[in-house]
Amino acid sequence: MKNLLITIDGPAGAGKTTVSRMLADRLSYRYIDTGALYRGVAYEALSAGISPDDGNGLENLCRTLNMSFIRNDTGTRLLSGKADITDEIRTPEITMLASAVSARPVVRKYLLNIQRDMAKEKGTVFEGRDMGTVVFPDADMKFFLDASCKIRAARRHKESESDTGQTLEEVEKDMRQRDERDSTREIAPLNPAMDAIIIDSTDFSAQEVVEQMLSYIKVISRKEYTKCGL
Ligand code: C5P
Repeated sequence: MKNLLITIDGPAGAGKTTVSRMLADRLSYRYIDTGALYRGVAYEALSAGISPDDGNGLENLCRTLNMSFIRNDTGTRLLSGKADITDEIRTPEITMLASAVSARPVVRKYLLNIQRDMAKEKGTVFEGRDMGTVVFPDADMKFFLDASCKIRAARRHKESESDTGQTLEEVEKDMRQRDERDSTREIAPLNPAMDAIIIDSTDFSAQEVVEQMLSYIKVISRKEYTKCGL
């Protein structure tokens, strides 16, 4: 099968990470979690004492950052310079801060270039909020994964309960606030691309969602195959 560029966008807790990883595994593709990059900027801003409202401060910070992903025995790790910040970016504080810094144009511009650079190698599943709309408008296959707010909060709570100590109500409140900010920001708001396939995962397991995606991908691949006159 031709190496495709696949995007999966959607709100928090819709199952994007699980599904993107599984899909990438099934296709033997690379998987890129772009939310981790926004979290990385938020982590560095917090460490440097820069507020998400300070556009100049964030711009200067982005100029000095050097973020990259590496793979090792424990999976994919996020590096900022030489420091491994994979675990530090998963706290509720960084989650909310990532949503705030992601609304700043300077941050989006900085990460846009990094993400497009990563796409030079095809055969990749990119997960995020604006992959299909802004970063890769010409992606070969675009999905938008959604689910009811209640189920998204329950899933996120189950994933993080042992680590963060947040109650289900707290998780749901944070998620609603984040959804609101991500969907209403002026730049690159969370929206399905016009040509995205929308999948509601409320009543489906991750495995079932992946099977649905694979059936769409097979159709696209067949079309490409025919276009090449094969
Ligand atoms: O996906 P994750 O929950 O880790 O993303 C953290 C935050 O980063 C999101 O709430 C969103 O504000 C931001 N983000 C974004 N665009 C992306 C990926 C994440 O604005 N492509």
